[in-house]
Amino acid sequence: MTDKRRNNSIDNPIEIAGAGPSGLAAAITLARAGRRVIVHEAHKEVGHRFGGDFQGLENWTTREDVLKVLQDLGLTTDFTTMPGRSGSAFDASGKCYEINSDEPLFYLVERGPGPDTLDSALLRQAQSLGVEVRFNSCLRQMAGDGILAAGPRAADAIAVGYHFETDRADGYWVICNDDLAPKGYAYLLIMNGKGTVKSCMFSGFKQEKLYVQRTLDAFQRLVGLEMKNPRPHGGSGNFRIPQSAYSGPHPLVGEQAGFQDTLWGFGMRLAISSGVLAARSLLTGDNYDTLWQRELKPLMKTSVVNRVLFSLLGNRGYGWFLRRYIASPNLRESLRRQYQPSWPKRLLDPWARYRYESQRKDAACDHVDCHCIWCRGECCIHE
Ligand SMILES: Cc1cc2nc3c(=O)[nH]c(=O)nc-3n(C[C@H](O)[C@H](O)[C@H](O)COP(=O)(O)OP(=O)(O)OC[C@H]3O[C@@H](n4cnc5c(N)ncnc54)[C@H](O)[C@@H]3O)c2cc1C
Repeated sequence: MTDKRRNNSIDNPIEIAGAGPSGLAAAITLARAGRRVIVHEAHKEVGHRFGGDFQGLENWTTREDVLKVLQDLGLTTDFTTMPGRSGSAFDASGKCYEINSDEPLFYLVERGPGPDTLDSALLRQAQSLGVEVRFNSCLRQMAGDGILAAGPRAADAIAVGYHFETDRADGYWVICNDDLAPKGYAYLLIMNGKGTVKSCMFSGFKQEKLYVQRTLDAFQRLVGLEMKNPRPHGGSGNFRIPQSAYSGPHPLVGEQAGFQDTLWGFGMRLAISSGVLAARSLLTGDNYDTLWQRELKPLMKTSVVNRVLFSLLGNRGYGWFLRRYIASPNLRESLRRQYQPSWPKRLLDPWARYRYESQRKDAACDHVDCHCIWCRGECCIHE
């Protein structure tokens, strides 16, 4: 490349479609390296599809604390967090298993446009570095250098329920029961007087109302849930390990690439990591596929095996699973090991990939003439 062409490409802005965690992490990485960045966000604000949702930033896939990992990547941690140490899990019979971990298993964070959310913190950092964020700007075509970070394109899992206010103390509660959340889990999260209760299901999307009602009934019965001002909320997750995460010359990051924790849907860390890797590939000229396949693919492959094994457990198996793992002396380390590649998981990989593909064809929905929002997807292009 001649000096003149190199200078031109350095002066040209890099466009990013989507101001979610993946797009903003990419924007921050590029801006910190002195590049001009324009982020297009289809909605009028960041985190629009989450609107105050509580989510867990998982802290078990690395030995190092996730907040330290973010700081080392040059990303802000200036958002409200609640460390998830002690909580409760229930099996399908209602038996309670107390969760206790010396180190946080996750950090509860708020998503959406509010002042204390993960999304707003990333936005503030990006803008302070000179990133131009254009709201109400739905990017349909990308001409020059750019990154596609537009979120999920399909629904492989959904989490549906309510946001609400409450007088209850902070905490988290989980139920593993296919009658409430087929092949997934139901959860209740409370932080600073606000709560989220959801059924996270990997099948049975058409019966979502029934599962949400059963989830509410179960949390009322088991922990005395009372919601003030409940507001319905739901969203989908897109889990897929692509052959290549390029669309033409443009890297795909986060859930637009299908990057997700296929086991339980803890996608935020993969979104952020892939955003950073895509930005580095633009800065260094390294191949993005090589980077994510080295750094992220082994973990994602293991999570597919974990998903298939988890979905075979059924209501009887969940009790066994909770007894075995929740009781382990170092739960964070046990989880970390379960997410690491190992020879048994490598052996199971082809079988798991076959099983997972077939399970994505949700038997409860043929997707033919279906107008449920999960079949429509959530990208603004479909709205
Ligand atoms: C209900 C629910 C609960 C979840 N809970 C957890 C959890 O506890 N822990 C966890 O780690 N993960 C959780 N996840 C997953 C996590 O939210 C996602 O993995 C993560 O947000 C993906 O980030 P992203 O940047 O790829 O996409 P998004 O966060 O979806 O951001 C994409 C952005 O792109 C914008 N956009 C779309 N199309 C265009 C376009 N053409 N032009 C411009 N902008 C566009 C969208 O408006 C959006 O703002 C949950 C997901 C849901 C739905």
